[in-house]
Amino acid sequence: EATQDKGRRYVIFSHDITEHQQRYLALQNDLYHAVTNEELVIYYQPIVDVSKTHIYGFEALLRWEHPSYGLVMPYEFIPIAEATGAIVEIGYWVIEQACKKIKQWEQENEDFSLSVNISYRQLEAAHFLERVEALLKAGNCPSDHLVFEITESILMKDIVTSNQVLTALKALGIRISVDDFGIGYSSLSYLKKFPVDILKIDRAFIKNIDEDNNDAAIVSAIMDMSRALALDVVAEGIETKKHLEWLTKFNCHYMQGYLYSRPVSEKDLPQVISDIRKFLITS
Ligand code: C2E
Ligand code: MG
Ligand code: MG
Ligand code: MG
Repeated sequence: EATQDKGRRYVIFSHDITEHQQRYLALQNDLYHAVTNEELVIYYQPIVDVSKTHIYGFEALLRWEHPSYGLVMPYEFIPIAEATGAIVEIGYWVIEQACKKIKQWEQENEDFSLSVNISYRQLEAAHFLERVEALLKAGNCPSDHLVFEITESILMKDIVTSNQVLTALKALGIRISVDDFGIGYSSLSYLKKFPVDILKIDRAFIKNIDEDNNDAAIVSAIMDMSRALALDVVAEGIETKKHLEWLTKFNCHYMQGYLYSRPVSEKDLPQVISDIRKFLITS
């Protein structure tokens, strides 16, 4: 809203909008230096294999320790990073850190996999495959422990390109997981066209599985199809014993969610690993 006052022009925004816009612009600006300023941190959330009662691996989830805003969550800054393209360099940093972590686990004789989320802007970036290969080499990283999580909607965006990139990533030894599966519009039969290894059922289907027959039917159908296609299935958003019971009933073995642990910082990781191991033995 603009008003005229003695030839001067004032632009008046509602208080809410200016604050929101200010924060957006500040985050957008600061994001370019977040990596070099060492403000980004990776949190780790365990993925548990209940059939073997062991920890299958972890998902790497970004957090931003902003000097004035405090902890900023990915739902806020990842879309900004995607819009500006900053996600490409941030993404390489995450892969680099993931390689270090996998290497460290190898030296500690831990067999954990580590999953990293990959945005569309990263996949389409020039030299993405070369950069990933270089990071694997530089980190001397056993690539069979690295998993790339790519959402179903990204895969469906450009099927030909997706297929080429995924095939090349698989040739590097990286496994592919389809993230947020079920909420997109792809038919399950499309999956067999892609060289994918893992499906992650979106937590939207888990949340009310106890009351919602449709959700239970969808999860059951996903499990049937994934068995036919020999895919591993991870259920996200396992928050309760009831969720666990339902998924176990459908023969889903890989669980991720607050029932086991929230994503935790590197410092808290040893404690979480030991807590989950105790929990798995006694439950
Ligand atoms: P996502 O890949 O689907 O990750 C799962 C999200 O669900 C995480 O949110 C996790 O903290 C949350 N979650 C896990 N278990 C539960 C549960 O039991 N209940 C509930 N309510 N939530 C649970 P987070 O960490 O806020 O990340 C949000 C999204 O941001 C991720 O969704 C992913 O799409 C994106 N993201 C995070 N890190 C990165 C990254 O390094 N690169 C890219 N490109 N995207 C990232
Ligand atoms: Mg994910
Ligand atoms: Mg997910
Ligand atoms: Mg999700």
